[in-house]
Amino acid sequence: MLTAKKCSVLRLLLIPFLCAAPLSAQSMRPEAEKQLARAIYKEFVEIQSGYTTGATTPVAQAAAARLRAAGFPESDIFVGGANPKKANLVVRYHGTGARKPLLLLAHTDVVEAKREDWTLDPFQFIERDGFFYGRGTGDDKAQAAIWIANLIRYKQEGFRPDRDIIVALTADEEGGGPYNGVTWLLKNHRDLIDAELALNEGGWGESAGGKKISNDLQVSEKYVVNFRLEVRNKGGHSSLPVPDNAIYHLACALERLAHFGFPLKTNEVTAAYFRQMAKLEAGPLKEDLAKVAEGSQEAMPRVAAASPAWNATLRTTCVATQLEGGHAMNALPQLAAATVNCRVLPEDSVEYVQSTLQRVLADDQVTVKIIHDVTKAPASALRPDVLNAVSRVTDTLWPGVPVVPTMVMGATDGAYLRAAGIPTYGVQGIFMDRDDIRFHGRDERLSVQSFYEGQTFLYELVKVLSKTGD
Ligand SMILES: [Zn+2]
Repeated sequence: MLTAKKCSVLRLLLIPFLCAAPLSAQSMRPEAEKQLARAIYKEFVEIQSGYTTGATTPVAQAAAARLRAAGFPESDIFVGGANPKKANLVVRYHGTGARKPLLLLAHTDVVEAKREDWTLDPFQFIERDGFFYGRGTGDDKAQAAIWIANLIRYKQEGFRPDRDIIVALTADEEGGGPYNGVTWLLKNHRDLIDAELALNEGGWGESAGGKKISNDLQVSEKYVVNFRLEVRNKGGHSSLPVPDNAIYHLACALERLAHFGFPLKTNEVTAAYFRQMAKLEAGPLKEDLAKVAEGSQEAMPRVAAASPAWNATLRTTCVATQLEGGHAMNALPQLAAATVNCRVLPEDSVEYVQSTLQRVLADDQVTVKIIHDVTKAPASALRPDVLNAVSRVTDTLWPGVPVVPTMVMGATDGAYLRAAGIPTYGVQGIFMDRDDIRFHGRDERLSVQSFYEGQTFLYELVKVLSKTGD
């Protein structure tokens, strides 16, 4: 939870940053740099690094080869991981050492993509109609390519930061697995990635109808708990049915869950988010959004009903995602089971969610068990240096576009870093149409202009964060 003091800092910083000294930046990086970033991006997207069937080691090796060619010494490049096919890459660009390092994170594995589901080949990088198409173009190979391209550029420029800049390209983020990727690095090579703060995916620019609405800065995220609901029964011959049926027990319990909603509420981050949304909204919901920002219980149900994203921002959610049961067509079921996937607000506890589920399911025969370890992370502090830097670069590139702190519904590796004491900020400056986010979906794509703008934004942001001191 954020303190009241941090909350007032947040309010101040939500005012668009109008008094920033102008950056020396050009509005876009020079052509040669854009081409380098594009070439790395293409190379990454065309490597099949699906979480279940692919490999990230070739991505790590491709990045390492680019870095070596740019003159990075072998001693500053690490390739390794929990599995030979699933390597991570870590590279260090040395600064003066005056301050603790800045970590730049991106993951190189992607969600599976089947050729037959897509209009285009998901593992071919295609530029068409102003978009780059391919699996991972949005999640998360754009940021991975940009980190590498920009790091090479800093070296070519002879840029001397006040702190080391570390880029870590990690495996197995999409599996949510606690065994490889950033978790493995934290456990086995913390020295390689230890940092004062980190930048990661999870916050992007929101646009609507071609207009930039906000540049989001992700400071917290919901955490994931998967529950297995199970009913076991002695079964029997299907010609002699009895009321005590495992499938019926489970089905009725799930029916009760379907009609249940966790309480609606806000926290400091989401209240700030709705305050900003109220300013940006022109339609009939403007007043309700402002009321929600002030904690109005009366307005929350209307805002929650207006959008699945707003509903998920205002409450913990639990939804049935998988079913299994029965062992023969002509036998009474001995087992019925379901997976329930919960996305939990940072302030709600696992015990609260579990006991609430048990109460709502209201059947002692349905057992409710947690499937795997849970990583629950605090929100990152809204550090003035980070907010100032993000606001300053945003306002220079896109005057008047506000920076909006957000809590995201999905999970990122930021949770593991936050839990390990490294405050992590999801920020990209890559703008996407808020109604056409294709992460994990078919025909994933990213606007060409957004990619190059993101490259410029992150180039400037990292420079500011590695030069300024408090
Ligand atoms: Zn991702």
